[in-house]
Amino acid sequence: MELWYTEKHTENTGITLKVVDCLFGGRTKYQDIAVLQSPEYGRVLLLDGLVMLTERDEFVYHEMIAHVPLLSHPNPRKVLIIGGGDGGTVREVLKHPSIEHIDLVEIDEMVIEKCREYFPSVSQGLDSPKVTIHVTDGIEFVRNAQADYDVVIIDSSDPIGPGEGLFVESFYQNVSQILKTNGLMVAQSESPFLHEQIIGPMYQRLNKVFPVSNMYLAFIPTYPAGCWSFAWCSKGGVTTPLDHLDTRRYEELQPVLKYYNPQVHRSSFNLPNFIREMLPHGSSL
Ligand code: SAM
Repeated sequence: MELWYTEKHTENTGITLKVVDCLFGGRTKYQDIAVLQSPEYGRVLLLDGLVMLTERDEFVYHEMIAHVPLLSHPNPRKVLIIGGGDGGTVREVLKHPSIEHIDLVEIDEMVIEKCREYFPSVSQGLDSPKVTIHVTDGIEFVRNAQADYDVVIIDSSDPIGPGEGLFVESFYQNVSQILKTNGLMVAQSESPFLHEQIIGPMYQRLNKVFPVSNMYLAFIPTYPAGCWSFAWCSKGGVTTPLDHLDTRRYEELQPVLKYYNPQVHRSSFNLPNFIREMLPHGSSL
């Protein structure tokens, strides 16, 4: 008998992966958590039945959510990551020699625990002395934080459940207040093919808070429609995502990256017409 996992992206579309084993299944007060073993994509992390990451294609998302802001910033030293309890974004941020400290704020301790157990290649950076893990709500953390960060990365789940409050204007205002004047925020911003009704209003809210906000894209096979977006937002000190793009700093990143490079960085901000049209004026480079 064959076993298949299906994630419905809309009423009429979805993705299906053959599964050879269910390694873990559990529920916390925030969400269902499952770890599947698939022959094609390796291990798969599901939260509330939605693919969060697979061993085979997680590098795309984590390299693009980390290296685009860090190589857009002149000298990133202090980084805040909201969500990202799997550790993939932490792993990528740690590759930058300039990094002095990372605060990781993950609401669900079981995500950290199970990613340590089942995704060691993703969670390897969580034990770095440069990393402080805060198991708490990112909304509260940002509201009360006193620190000032060079880069804030919102590596959240979708705008439902505990992730919903990470997409509202007051949250963005609070992020802006804990960024330095040349600080940057990047947030995952869903799929332009399937989430137009989320994306337009989200970028309107971002434009109210940040002087500059630009969308960039990456292709991630196991995400809805395989096309994913990110919002690059600047407090104003850095005016474009290309200002400080430095090939020499890119070449310092070890080990070699599998997706990101300076050409991909530049081209990821070139948006197709149908996506430009769904964004408010000024949100596309
Ligand atoms: N990094 C993964 C990937 O490759 O796409 C997906 C994102 S990560 C698993 C999303 C995380 O955000 C989850 O672990 C979830 O528990 C966390 N999260 C959701 N809402 C949160 C909140 N309000 N504060 C902190 N963490 C939150």
